[in-house]
Amino acid sequence: MALEPMAIGVMLGVGEDPRESIQKVLDVGVTNAQMGRPGDEWLKPEKAKELKKLAKQMGVTITTVFCGFDGESYDDIPTVQKTVGFVPKAPRKARVKKAKEIADFAKVLGVKVVAAHVGFVPEDRRDPEYRAIVRTVRAFADYLAKSKQKLSLETGQETGPCLLRFIEDIRRPNVKVNFDPANMILYGTGGPIEALKLVGKLVVGVHAKDGVGPTKKNQLGTETPLGKGEVGIKRFIQTLIDLKYKGPLTIEREITGPQQKKDIIKARKLLERIRDKLLAAAAGK
Ligand code: MG
Repeated sequence: MALEPMAIGVMLGVGEDPRESIQKVLDVGVTNAQMGRPGDEWLKPEKAKELKKLAKQMGVTITTVFCGFDGESYDDIPTVQKTVGFVPKAPRKARVKKAKEIADFAKVLGVKVVAAHVGFVPEDRRDPEYRAIVRTVRAFADYLAKSKQKLSLETGQETGPCLLRFIEDIRRPNVKVNFDPANMILYGTGGPIEALKLVGKLVVGVHAKDGVGPTKKNQLGTETPLGKGEVGIKRFIQTLIDLKYKGPLTIEREITGPQQKKDIIKARKLLERIRDKLLAAAAGK
């Protein structure tokens, strides 16, 4: 089922009871979701089929599946550099294999976008590691292309210009961007709105997330409820409208417990208000 433009969605973490997990999406008042890293038990085709059937029955559209890997940690910036994505050399091969399994799972699910944090790509493109990472991501993009799937790179660990150059160096039309404006603030990698304008045409997904910048060297900033941080949600949505972005707005609130649900519902209401007002203004122009 095709989604409305800028349909509000949420992150879905599929746990032991998938019905309960999908119900959490409906409970915050939305019907589409990006799925976080699937547990290994879900990667078998029969399990993926089971999930597909259940999501359909319950009326939830899964828009994207995220890759994630064992050994990743987001504790602070040096730890992210050492552990996240395709950048760490030692687990790279095993992670590509896992990413392909996740892509196959997404294929069975009927999901056309697979997202990933690549990790801290070296800024110097003459660095042999830079070239090795470009080749790795290109090969994964080619694997996805066979199933007409896209690879969307989550923003945050690099500045807008670095991300754009990295994607240009990969030279594959199915490499896109999942734009998380809060990550750019949390990692201190520049103003998200400027970066969004720069990579705008490549954006196939966004995270509606907010945060404030780091106060100490090597530390990440702090995530906040939507509208309480430094992103400037109204400007963010307006920029997406200006870019003619039609994909979903996926709320991401990376805390646990009952407060998460409360914050997500508030975020949904805030997004609905801002989106509807700005879309109406844009239509009236
Ligand atoms: Mg995100």
